[in-house]
Amino acid sequence: MTKPRILVLGSSNTDMIIKLARIPRPGETLLGGKFTTAAGGKGANQAVAAARAGGDVAFIVRLGKDMFGDQALAGFKADKIDTRHILRDAKTPSGVALIFVAGSGENSIAVASGANARLTSADVRAAEAAFPGSKALVMQLETPLPTVTAAAKLAKKHGVPVILNPAPAPSEKLPPALLRLVSILTPNETEAELLSGIKVTDEASAREAAHALLKQGVETVIITLGAKGAYLHNARTSGLIPGRKVKAVDTTAAGDTFNGALAVALAEGRDLSEAIRFANVAAALSVTRLGAQPSAPARTEIERLLK
Ligand code: ATP
Repeated sequence: MTKPRILVLGSSNTDMIIKLARIPRPGETLLGGKFTTAAGGKGANQAVAAARAGGDVAFIVRLGKDMFGDQALAGFKADKIDTRHILRDAKTPSGVALIFVAGSGENSIAVASGANARLTSADVRAAEAAFPGSKALVMQLETPLPTVTAAAKLAKKHGVPVILNPAPAPSEKLPPALLRLVSILTPNETEAELLSGIKVTDEASAREAAHALLKQGVETVIITLGAKGAYLHNARTSGLIPGRKVKAVDTTAAGDTFNGALAVALAEGRDLSEAIRFANVAAALSVTRLGAQPSAPARTEIERLLK
């Protein structure tokens, strides 16, 4: 089977993590930490997840012309991602996240978006050649909203369905002009509440929130509910697609893996419920392992657990 073409637009970050007894107070220097780096950023996580799940992925992102950008690019190439539309910014550093993780599990994260914040509508238009023939455009909210909207418009022009993962949670409701261009919106519980004004605690409230989002112009809403799975709602169907039971080790990027795998399953022609089942399995596998991109499963692993 030929791999379906998936276009991902979004962010790439390098996560720099120090694990230490507790989070340092302002002005304090705390010794004794253990340092690791990991490839992250929601766009990059979703691109990698889609590539491993079986997509022929092209990624639109802006990286700095620095060591972190070089490393990210090498990672995308290793996952056979089409990097022709990746831009390098000589003036701005690559995106980084500085993360403290305390012994208690509590964390504190500071993000410098860097080049991610400089991905413009003009950049998107320059990458128009990537749109025709793509089976889905997958986006998140770590790049500027006008850029996301410009890409959604181009997708509409070329008949490419838009999957928008409204994460991280936006500080205000999304413009209706953008939502009307979205085929599938995939908030988690917090994002669904922020965007709909309805607190999501169970199936009934998930349905209510999804319904409110449908009224804002989206075609289909899928609210991810952690270990419980995901709630699907559109004009034709509604219901919970249960998650796969696993021993959770690290849920970082569970949502990103879900979105990447969902895009591939839909692009291969599965119906919505089947595609969510596939995405639930991929995301469940990712929570059994540490890290963001390192935890995204290969297609063979997803198929094994799907049976
Ligand atoms: P994150 O921010 O950690 O990436 P999220 O808040 O965006 O995640 P969730 O709703 O927590 O997204 O999870 C996304 C999907 O991952 C769920 O719909 C489910 O398929 C899977 N998942 C998450 N947590 C678990 C778990 N403990 N066990 C099994 N599957 C899980």
